[in-house]
Amino acid sequence: MSARILVVDDVPANVKLLEARLSAEYFDVMTAANGTEALAISRRAECDIILLDVMMPDMDGFEVCRRLKTDPATHHIPVVMVTALDSPADRNRGLEAGADDFLTKPVSDVVLIARVRSLTRLKMMTDELRMRAITSLEIGMQAPERSAIADTGKGGRILLVDDRQSSYERLATILAAEHTIDVEPNPTEALFHAAEGNYDLLIVSLDLNNFDGLRLCSQARSLERTRHVPILAIADPENSTRLLRGLEIGVNDYLLRPIDKTELLARARTQIRRRRYTDHLRDNVQNSIEMAITDALTGLHNRRYMESHLATLAEQAATRGKPLALMILDIDYFKSINDNYGHDAGDDVLREFAVRVRKSIRGIDLACRYGGEEFVIVMPETDLHVAGMVAERLRRSIAGEPFAIHKGAKRIEVTISIGLTTLERKGEAVADVLKRADTALYRAKHDGRNRVVSQAA
Ligand code: GH3
Ligand code: MG
Ligand code: MG
Repeated sequence: MSARILVVDDVPANVKLLEARLSAEYFDVMTAANGTEALAISRRAECDIILLDVMMPDMDGFEVCRRLKTDPATHHIPVVMVTALDSPADRNRGLEAGADDFLTKPVSDVVLIARVRSLTRLKMMTDELRMRAITSLEIGMQAPERSAIADTGKGGRILLVDDRQSSYERLATILAAEHTIDVEPNPTEALFHAAEGNYDLLIVSLDLNNFDGLRLCSQARSLERTRHVPILAIADPENSTRLLRGLEIGVNDYLLRPIDKTELLARARTQIRRRRYTDHLRDNVQNSIEMAITDALTGLHNRRYMESHLATLAEQAATRGKPLALMILDIDYFKSINDNYGHDAGDDVLREFAVRVRKSIRGIDLACRYGGEEFVIVMPETDLHVAGMVAERLRRSIAGEPFAIHKGAKRIEVTISIGLTTLERKGEAVADVLKRADTALYRAKHDGRNRVVSQAA
């Protein structure tokens, strides 16, 4: 996973320094010397994370951040402010502008890489959800960005896990000004409590007595009910190396003691806002989409969804210079299955066919029922050679094992023909790709069926 990091700084030496360190870790680095350039690059969706200098002529980093975070096109890109000033007041200005994180110059290598990695994971997840939500948006739903931008981040439900009374009493009082807060002083109860409580944020002290707070964080990350709840860790400064471990295992943000009141509130709001945004995206994806875009018989995506999502995938492949494979699958002599064994038997074959397709493809591949007994599979980041192997495996998974019909009383042989192609590297109209795959399919039928025909772009 090589994320594209945009480094924005008006001092070329600073840019060079960050660029060298990030490139050494195999990140793709892009650079901008001022805010205007940075905004343009971000709007073209060319970067995954932005490292933003605060002090720049013309437009300062706070203003650039504010603009990024209020534009629906760039709102979801994580922004890390890189600042020489390290006063709570500055950090708070950045947080108010919507910054996701801070790095203080001179930037420590370990912290830099840990932060960028953790934000990369977050970005990849949001991208995937967002892409699907945008598809549903084109089908007529509300923009998740609009409500996210308007969200104050207040009114969240927070669970604070801390066994030091003086500490949790102070923190709870601060947080209660904006949120509903529960305190769990017993760390062995905390995971259960967190799973039951439907929280928007977990705040976990890493200085617990006889208990490893990081273990709790990692358990919360692997438990289904708490997997998506953000975690804000709190630690004494001498525990800061453990914080880095924390970021690796999925802690979203941290604060060092003594805790500044305004910063605590701002960081809590940022996490809660982000949580609501991703939840919103996830809901969009799960509920509405499933009904509007799923084929009822096979449970695969329907044609309408495929066409709209395919356009997005093709665009993404073209801008990233990645291959994209597409195949059309058509069941051979399907009409005669209906004619010989009845329409219900035909339906059984279609259902079982979908089950076998799902088993043969990856999670990111998109499979849909394109028409009666025609299916389309789109495979991101897959070239013609690999796609050919997948297609062949699919063909064998159908022809190699008879299909049960009549409630298992009978088994019949079924075969499919597949037409396969890829998107042109420089991008091309989706309709042309489909057409090429269809021509290849026609040849597969013509050449005798039960085969795969590939047609290079
Ligand atoms: P070929 O090998 O050339 O693809 O022949 P074919 O018989 O598969 O192709 P044709 O397009 O002539 O027939 C497709 C048939 O699929 C016709 C239609 O009645 C049937 N069909 C379409 N949708 C459904 C469905 O949902 N259930 C069932 N049982 N049959 C369907
Ligand atoms: Mg057919
Ligand atoms: Mg057909």
